[in-house]
Amino acid sequence: MAKPVVHIIGAGLAGLAAAVRLAGEPCEIVLYEAARQAGGRCRSYFDATLGMVIDNGNHLLLSGNRAALDFLATIGGADRLSGPAQADFSFVDLATKERWRVRPNAGPIPWWIFVEGRGPPGANWRDYLALLALLLPGKDRPIGAVMACEGALYERLWRPFLLAALNIEPSEGSSHLAAAIVRETLAKGGGACRPLVAHGLSAAFIEPAIAHLTRIGADIRLDHRLRGFEFSGNRIAGLDFGDARAALGAADKVVLAAPAPVAQDLAPNLQAPQSFRAIVNAHFKIAPPKDVPAILGVVNGTIEWVFSFEDRLSVTISGADRLLDVAREELAATIWAEVAEATQLEKPLPPWQIIKEKRATFAATPEENARRPGARTAYANLALAGDWTATGLPATIEGAIRSGNRAADAIMQMK
Ligand SMILES: Cc1cc2nc3c(=O)[nH]c(=O)nc-3n(C[C@H](O)[C@H](O)[C@H](O)COP(=O)(O)OP(=O)(O)OC[C@H]3O[C@@H](n4cnc5c(N)ncnc54)[C@H](O)[C@@H]3O)c2cc1C
Repeated sequence: MAKPVVHIIGAGLAGLAAAVRLAGEPCEIVLYEAARQAGGRCRSYFDATLGMVIDNGNHLLLSGNRAALDFLATIGGADRLSGPAQADFSFVDLATKERWRVRPNAGPIPWWIFVEGRGPPGANWRDYLALLALLLPGKDRPIGAVMACEGALYERLWRPFLLAALNIEPSEGSSHLAAAIVRETLAKGGGACRPLVAHGLSAAFIEPAIAHLTRIGADIRLDHRLRGFEFSGNRIAGLDFGDARAALGAADKVVLAAPAPVAQDLAPNLQAPQSFRAIVNAHFKIAPPKDVPAILGVVNGTIEWVFSFEDRLSVTISGADRLLDVAREELAATIWAEVAEATQLEKPLPPWQIIKEKRATFAATPEENARRPGARTAYANLALAGDWTATGLPATIEGAIRSGNRAADAIMQMK
């Protein structure tokens, strides 16, 4: 008897994770991707302006991101991430010129908060207790209604950390999503907070996943944009690709792993987040000085994080909607002036590229968090995946991979 087919729409991390999880189950896997390359919002490409392969955006993982690390171990990409042996984050304040490091100790008892030189200047151990308010039970509220979003520790540690994790001004962000991040990383100690960076997002996450899926016999169809579903009662009966269609058998199933607005167009009556936040990345083709840390946090600037690679310096600015209308040349000049100061590299503007991802993530507010659907849908053979589904985490690699895992598990339970 022919095996049932699971059709997966979207080859971002969520769709890839669903496919990887289904490998070994008694089903055929067909993965469709609208673009000519897999990876979605987590991908590398050859940039003709710089003449080098860059990522669409710098991506930071923490060692507490268990699903992401398990995914990498399964596909054989675990050795493509690098980071320090201990949690260690360098910062600079562009207003005061102060520099410091944040070095949580490895275990869950946070003695580092009592040790001078292991946290930001101007903070004492009592200030750290403010974060505990996030962990108390209660309804999802803006972080600003749960903890004080002010003071040296907030500006120099909690704001940069939460802004990077949530991609929204933290005072507006969801307290539940912030608490989930804190529980899975900081609250477990520095062992779960080691920063990990991929040297090429596609080389780490995407190419090994595609190679793994090809080895296990999955059918991967790039340049295949799903135009619509054909419904029969509460089942998906066919897939419409415009110039081609695929009919589904009675036991066949679908994982929809496309972004929220696409999913809403394809599946009527689907509830999903409605608003999004941008991320701006800038890449400068210049060999960084040897003493520049791999990741440098910047406060009191337009820029927030500087990533140092062998052949370039790359910058991330989260919650960056205010910058979408700023001319690229102006942005490049402003950002470079700050990078030069932060890295003490007094050089004229090198070749640059700016990438504005307008809908980088859903807006991680309590209201939007409440609109995220689970993996199960009203359709008997359709499951949802994507960083915008109800993973309990903000839109991150970890969330996207967990959503794919959950969708695959839901599919295996469907009749
Ligand atoms: C600039 C930037 C920086 C980021 N930084 C970080 C970070 O530091 N750390 C972190 O953990 N996360 C980060 N993220 C978030 C992370 O990239 C995402 O959460 C994750 O990649 C989302 O994966 P996904 O599979 O849910 O969605 P997507 O990557 O959007 O995948 C959806 C896929 O579906 C395809 N598709 C769309 N329509 C169709 C259709 N009709 N038919 C077939 N295919 C379709 C798309 O082409 C796409 O490939 C960042 C994101 C951005 C944009």
